[in-house]
Amino acid sequence: MDDTFLDRLRSIVGEANVLASGDLSAYEQDWRGWWTGKALAVARPRTSQEVADVVKVCVAAGVSIVPQGGNTGLVEGGVPDASGRQLVVQMGRMQAVRQIDEANMTVTVEAGCVLASLQQQVRDAGLLFPLSLGAEGSCMVGGNLATNAGGTQVLRYGNARDLCLGLEVVTPAGDVLHSLSGLRKDNSGYDLRDLFVGSEGTLGIITAATLKVFPLPASTVTCWAAARGIEEAIGLLGLARQHLGASLTGFEFMDETGLDFVVRNMPMLRVPFADSLPPYSILIETSGPEPEPQARAVMEALLESALQQDLITDVVLAESGEQARQLWDVRENIPLAQVADGPNVKHDISLPISAIPAFVARSQETLSLSIPGVRIVNFGHLGDGNLHYNVQGPEGCKPQEFMARHGEQVTKLVYQEVAALGGSFSAEHGVGRVKADALAAYKCPTALRLMRAIKAAIDPLNVMNPRPYDEAAALKP
Ligand SMILES: Cc1cc2nc3c(=O)[nH]c(=O)nc-3n(C[C@H](O)[C@H](O)[C@H](O)COP(=O)(O)OP(=O)(O)OC[C@H]3O[C@@H](n4cnc5c(N)ncnc54)[C@H](O)[C@@H]3O)c2cc1C
Repeated sequence: MDDTFLDRLRSIVGEANVLASGDLSAYEQDWRGWWTGKALAVARPRTSQEVADVVKVCVAAGVSIVPQGGNTGLVEGGVPDASGRQLVVQMGRMQAVRQIDEANMTVTVEAGCVLASLQQQVRDAGLLFPLSLGAEGSCMVGGNLATNAGGTQVLRYGNARDLCLGLEVVTPAGDVLHSLSGLRKDNSGYDLRDLFVGSEGTLGIITAATLKVFPLPASTVTCWAAARGIEEAIGLLGLARQHLGASLTGFEFMDETGLDFVVRNMPMLRVPFADSLPPYSILIETSGPEPEPQARAVMEALLESALQQDLITDVVLAESGEQARQLWDVRENIPLAQVADGPNVKHDISLPISAIPAFVARSQETLSLSIPGVRIVNFGHLGDGNLHYNVQGPEGCKPQEFMARHGEQVTKLVYQEVAALGGSFSAEHGVGRVKADALAAYKCPTALRLMRAIKAAIDPLNVMNPRPYDEAAALKP
């Protein structure tokens, strides 16, 4: 690529905002360090018009684009391929909160705003933006929307798609789609917003969004309960829905093996019932407008009823915000605690909640038969039917060897069970590069044909984030 292309970019975004030499690894390598690509350059635009102009220059030069936010994605979708011919368009300079509309209960924000910063700015205005996930200190609003991020409050507030009312998007032709309406009702034609949300940068670059905000809850109550089995945990979820209604904000579960990793590898964390871990532990959070004593009384009534029905065997109720934080720390540190024993085969899957017991039993049996001694760590957002199902080699095995020898086989067995029970191979992380083969194998062929047609209609030159599966048989006519 000659310098003219880079000069054109510099004339749009400024010399300092085109990075073409030096160490670009922060943009070229994914968060886990599993994939390293090679970028032609990195452009950091400040306005949607600059994004549009950059796209036009790329189209003219035949250069494809990888939109990038905080680069915290877990499926290798936000980093360039190895060709050295893709431009990374990094959105971090577009970070303004344009408007908080208290009457309409919306915030309009640019795509490069870091999620934690958006949460704080909305909180400073006395309101709540509820999207919350482990990467919130780095991930950006555009990335959250492009991946339709989930996180810990989906049960009460929905995922990124449910929170989005309007979008501003630069299309692959370099046009700006102005659709930042804060309307809750708008049946004037196809819902284009829902095409871009979750499209992982393959249909356009999101430059701003209008999102729902909510009243700040007056109280939050958190507890940790022990259950004998997954059926009991699901029974507790049903009971919690009855008792808590819309206040039920989080319902997370963790199996014994996952918590055992935390007990052994992270002694600074206080795991409830650590001396005798139950088969399953459940973290329940409620939040709402009631004063705290009232909210606690409702939670206590739920727990009493659950104990009476033998759905739980023990329970700890957090006495302070700090204690609640400590419980969440245990839940959020399971992946790190597992890493201390070496890499493992990760799956982010979803199932109808009613099918989860069958999945747990069947996959445990199939995996143990194929690989005796295999260790399964199963935890996640039970209230959303979303399991983080990680498979680690038997005690004492060499993790790298286990991954090389069994990784693909394990994933195939897990995805086959998921598909047989009507689930999805990607609950909240997306497809990216990592799950391109799974998309080809498990998505309904008609859905794939329609996806291919939409991509061809909006991005006929395949400018936006071309993916391996664009070329894979699954997406070929
Ligand atoms: C510790 C940790 C915890 C996590 N927990 C969760 C969780 O609970 N729930 C969950 O859903 N995810 C989770 N994730 C995954 C990740 O944080 C989310 O997918 C996040 O939404 C990605 O945002 P990002 O700004 O980092 O996007 P990136 O990683 O930069 O990009 C992700 C994808 O979106 C595209 N993209 C980025 N910005 C734009 C844009 N402006 N326009 C169009 N396309 C764009 C990229 O091309 C790429 O395909 C976690 C990740 C980590 C590291």
